[in-house]
Amino acid sequence: MAVKRKKGLERKIARERINYLLDLADRVKLEDYDLSRRYVELATRIARKYRIRLRKKKLRFCKKCLYPYRSDRVRVRVSKGVVRVTCLNCGNVRRFKVK
Ligand SMILES: [Zn+2]
Repeated sequence: MAVKRKKGLERKIARERINYLLDLADRVKLEDYDLSRRYVELATRIARKYRIRLRKKKLRFCKKCLYPYRSDRVRVRVSKGVVRVTCLNCGNVRRFKVK
């Protein structure tokens, strides 16, 4: 029981840290893109360690190269109810369905 509770607390802290890092990444991505990427990298590393899903937060950066999405670094196209987000850094394409 004690072990379980401790793990829950650790994950809670990890989640807070991830949110904080991604907020920082958002804030600096226009001025320092590499630093922003570093924050995303740290956040995803924490997420992996504590097996925390990033869910909606994933839309903020490229899953493959971890570069944060910025209007001049991605291409967004919509056709037939499908949104395609292309990362111009690594060429990774993600697709989303929209209603
Ligand atoms: Zn990419």
